[in-house]
Amino acid sequence: TDVRETLDYQTFGRAVRELAQTIADDGYEPDLVLSIARGGVFVAGGLAYALDCKNIHLVNVEFYTGVGTTLEMPVMLAPVPAAIDFTDKKVLITDDVADTGKTLRLVHDFCLDHVAEVRSAVIYEKSHSLVKCEYVWKRTDDWIEFPWSTEGPVVKREGQVLDA
Ligand code: 5GP
Repeated sequence: TDVRETLDYQTFGRAVRELAQTIADDGYEPDLVLSIARGGVFVAGGLAYALDCKNIHLVNVEFYTGVGTTLEMPVMLAPVPAAIDFTDKKVLITDDVADTGKTLRLVHDFCLDHVAEVRSAVIYEKSHSLVKCEYVWKRTDDWIEFPWSTEGPVVKREGQVLDA
C-alpha cells in the first residue's frame, strides 16, 4: 500500500507529552531512559524532561535500509552500553516505532540481563509487532513519515562506514 501516516513536529511534541502523561499516570518512574538511535533519541529527550529523569543513554541499532526494506536482523552498533551500570535500575526504552518489533526486542533482551525493570515507550506500534510495548501513543499499520527523516539529508554522503 502507499498509504502513509505523517507526523509533523507540532504533533510529535503533543505525542511525547501525552505519552509521558500515560507513563506518569501508570506510576512508572524510570531511573534512566535508554533511547534507540536515531529515531528514539527524539522521543527520549521529551520523555526525560516530562518525567523529570536526568539520565539518558543511547544504543545504536541499524535495521532499515529504506522504505520497508531491512537487513536480515537488526544489529547493535558500537559502543554497546556495557559500561553503563544498569544494576537495580528501572529503565525506559524509547523508540519512534515498533514495526516488526525486532529492534526493540534486541534492546529489551539486552537489558533484561542487566536491570531491575525494563519497559518500552514508542510513538507508534504496528499490529504485527512481536514486542508489545507498555506505552504506545498511536497504533497504525501504515508506513510512517517522521519529521526528522521525511525530507532526507541536506548532504549526500556515500560509503559511510558504520561503527560496529
Ligand atoms: P522494527 O525493528 O520494529 O521493525 O523497526 C524499528 C525501526 O525501524 C524504527 O526505529 C524506525 O527507525 C524504522 N522503521 C520501522 N517502521 C518504520 C516506518 O513506518 N517509518 C519509518 N520512517 N521508519 C520505520
